[in-house]
Amino acid sequence: MHGAPAAGVDYDVIVVGAGIAGLTAAIYTARQGLRTLVIGADLGGQLNMVSVIKNYPGIHEISGPELIKRVEQQARTAGAEIVFDEVTHIEKAGEMFVVRTAGGDEYRSLAVILAIGKAPRKLGVPGEAELRGRGVSYCAVCDAPLLRGKDVALVSWGDLSREPATVLAPVARKLYWIFPSDEPLGDDKFLGQVLGAGRVVLIPNSEVVEIRGRSRVELVVIKSRKSGEVMELPVSAVIIEVGYITKSDFVRHLVDVNERGEIIADWEGRTKTPGLFAAGDAVAYPYKQAVIAAAMGASAALSALSYVARLKGRALLSPRPLSESRSPGTP
Ligand SMILES: Cc1cc2nc3c(=O)[nH]c(=O)nc-3n(C[C@H](O)[C@H](O)[C@H](O)COP(=O)(O)OP(=O)(O)OC[C@H]3O[C@@H](n4cnc5c(N)ncnc54)[C@H](O)[C@@H]3O)c2cc1C
Repeated sequence: MHGAPAAGVDYDVIVVGAGIAGLTAAIYTARQGLRTLVIGADLGGQLNMVSVIKNYPGIHEISGPELIKRVEQQARTAGAEIVFDEVTHIEKAGEMFVVRTAGGDEYRSLAVILAIGKAPRKLGVPGEAELRGRGVSYCAVCDAPLLRGKDVALVSWGDLSREPATVLAPVARKLYWIFPSDEPLGDDKFLGQVLGAGRVVLIPNSEVVEIRGRSRVELVVIKSRKSGEVMELPVSAVIIEVGYITKSDFVRHLVDVNERGEIIADWEGRTKTPGLFAAGDAVAYPYKQAVIAAAMGASAALSALSYVARLKGRALLSPRPLSESRSPGTP
């Protein structure tokens, strides 16, 4: 589609996020002739943490990084440009979006698709950021094979802790399971299985206050929430699985979000700001899967296509008015 673009506009569509949702959106918009720019803080997002995917239709078995490489290639072949940077601010000026990045660049477009996914929640303690990737990890499934025979700390509780406890207990030489309550989760049968599967030391009513190490994790410092006593545990790794959050602060003036920062959008991916769409795990929708994120990317792209076409004076795909659409994130 090559209509008369608004003055000063660099792209028809800017996609924020180069995960599977954003790159799928880019395939769709670029193939339709929209000038498309993807701005991603990294390539692949969560798929980098997935060693094997066996439920992506049409592909019997593939690693997350391999899947995303293929999708990236498809987006580039379709004509999308991709730059690696973090978007820090978006504002709407008339019909134009102005998108600014941490690298100091500014891009202008007629529509924006937010495909910013979600990221692991951090503890926010000293040493955590410095030792990330050097013993501090947010993915037990990804790192369990590397932790065989090592002393490991797991910080997790509730239903979220089932998977990390299950994969770490049989491989770690000693697994210190740290949680803030009396029990990590109220399931005696599961706990019995995990405790029987390895050398697990439960550390209740406790929180991590510091992670230490020179080039790699060497120690985790914990504090009792009851007595205030501080204890140092020598470990090779600290696995933190305390949930995920969507970092949507930079667009809160343009979209509604829920308590996890997830963006409220309707089935067509439309947010409350015309021209601003959302897709993938960043949307307030309960199921977080690669195929769903990809489908949402396609859907948001088709909505963006209609929106841009209308701005350029051509009717194309006419979606229902916003009032007729229910948000996937609301009952
Ligand atoms: C351990 C694990 C195993 C999984 N296993 C499976 C599985 O077997 N099958 C399956 O279907 N799904 C699986 N999933 C889920 C699947 O990976 C996700 O649903 C999917 O990757 C979400 O894609 P997304 O593009 O919406 O978000 P993400 O993958 O989170 O990508 C979002 C991207 O946006 C970027 N970003 C965020 N903010 C900004 C910004 N301000 N500026 C620029 N870029 C930004 C991020 O850096 C990231 O690259 C798994 C997930 C995990 C963590």
